[in-house]
Amino acid sequence: MGEVKSDIEIARAAKKKPIMEIGAKLGIPPEHLLPYGHDKAKVSAEFIAAQKEKRNGRLILVTSINPTPAGEGKTTTTVGLGDGLNRIGKKTIVCIREASLGPCFGIKGGAAGGGYAQVVPMEDINLHFTGDFHAVTAAHNLLAALIDNHIYWGNEQAIDIRRIAWRRVMDMNDRALRQIIGSLGGVANGYPRETGFDITVASEVMAILCLAMDIHDLEKRLGNIIIGYRRDKSPVYARDIKADGAMAVLLKDAMQPNLVQTLENNPAFVHGGPFANIAHGCNSVVATATALKLADYVVTEAGFGADLGAEKFFDIKCRKAGLKPDAAVIVATVRAIKMNGGVKKEDLGRENLDGLRKGCANLGRHVQNVKKFGVPVLVAINHFTSDTEAEIQAIKDYVRTLGSEAVLCKHWAEGSAGIEELAHKVVDLANAGHSQFSPLYPDDMPLFHKIETIAKDIYHASEVIADKVVRDQLRTWEDQGYGHLPICVAKTQYSFSTDPNLRGAPTGHAVPIREVRLAAGAGFIVVVTGEIMTMPGLPKAPSSERIRLNEQGLIEGLF
Ligand code: ADP
Ligand code: MG
Repeated sequence: MGEVKSDIEIARAAKKKPIMEIGAKLGIPPEHLLPYGHDKAKVSAEFIAAQKEKRNGRLILVTSINPTPAGEGKTTTTVGLGDGLNRIGKKTIVCIREASLGPCFGIKGGAAGGGYAQVVPMEDINLHFTGDFHAVTAAHNLLAALIDNHIYWGNEQAIDIRRIAWRRVMDMNDRALRQIIGSLGGVANGYPRETGFDITVASEVMAILCLAMDIHDLEKRLGNIIIGYRRDKSPVYARDIKADGAMAVLLKDAMQPNLVQTLENNPAFVHGGPFANIAHGCNSVVATATALKLADYVVTEAGFGADLGAEKFFDIKCRKAGLKPDAAVIVATVRAIKMNGGVKKEDLGRENLDGLRKGCANLGRHVQNVKKFGVPVLVAINHFTSDTEAEIQAIKDYVRTLGSEAVLCKHWAEGSAGIEELAHKVVDLANAGHSQFSPLYPDDMPLFHKIETIAKDIYHASEVIADKVVRDQLRTWEDQGYGHLPICVAKTQYSFSTDPNLRGAPTGHAVPIREVRLAAGAGFIVVVTGEIMTMPGLPKAPSSERIRLNEQGLIEGLF
């Protein structure tokens, strides 16, 4: 076997086509492609608006079982399946999230796929890209500055400075900024108060950008952001201090989806990137909706395992944007299934059919869960070189007992040629008219009942535990007119339960609610069930130590 090339080496060797050619394949005229260099372009808002009446292509969701810390290859499979569909002659666009800058310098792992299933230019996509995240940072921090300024000049809105709900953001892992005291240094600097920073992807502005239908909807939602409360606990909105207009101006370009290409020169929209815990973890509605107008098939990814990612994709994104997915692909790996069956990380390289069969319960639960939304399912076995034939066969046999099918995919090593079988099966399934999509719960169900529905139907928990404070808070929001909002659960991605070490398919566990938050602009209620980090830190030996420019001026050490 030859030496395995790194993701960045493969990406750099890509024979990219000019982005105008990729856009032309989709029928986007040059005047509506706003180029950022030669290999990236935004699609103009005018062009997008003019597509409204066209009919939609088929929507395919890629999700996964509960992952191992390494990631299971959802992005890799999303990109690979997009290439596979194009290979068999189906006009397909891939829709994925943009990468956050901070994690690039922390622990290895890019956001542009891997092996021979990547989107390029991968360095740009993982770094500054087209500046969308910087725009989100600026818009978020403009609002923060306006809040302190409003208070400084007399606080006409009577904001209680102990109850300000808006922090600041930065797209960097920096634990030193998690909790700070601002406005120190005397009268001219305002009123000292405790605050802090989150990473940009945790900003409500990011979630709003990804759920807004267009720039007008964006501005309206920005105005709905709750920035804090008065002494009588009534909310103060961003629109009350007239911040929404200027924030929308800063986000005007960022609202337009970014077109790039896969290693095989097929189109991909890489746009938006909300956290998958305190937010919904999907690429933008604008990108997905536009892709559906321009292609026959759209393959998109939801973050984390299907208990979080797919549930939020269906219950938040699809519900709000009126999207109707035609099929779902659940990515599983032999390694992750074995880990879910209790096999230790260091033993994953060895065949272990008992461990594998035990771990299949996790896969089975996800398959059945996704079917509860009325969406038909295929399982993609993302092939690793250490997998054995017997292990692969055992997964296929197991999935057949569920009335579904598992297909072995080698796109990581072989590109589109390695995923043709899955592509054909996806086409058949998506066109069979089996999908009867509907969200898990109706809008008008009481908020606590919605949380219980997710916990019981998806996590197989026996109960939801919540203090009176939490229940009262939910009731107050219902009284204020927020009862129709969907729920966004922040939970560990490693388990159906709230305990990351409880793998497989646990039942009968309790889901304790630590806190609830209202994202009034984004339009969901965040239910926090554990320790949630909204500003990550860097490890002892961050990958930044190995990132540098070589003699030719090329980036080294980035994945
Ligand atoms: P996810 O989207 O589920 O987080 P990614 O697709 O980003 O996962 O993949 C995570 C990492 O695993 C990437 O570095 C990718 O190169 C690697 N990877 C994915 N599939 C395979 C595979 N079949 N064999 C080896 N490495 C893989
Ligand atoms: Mg991913």
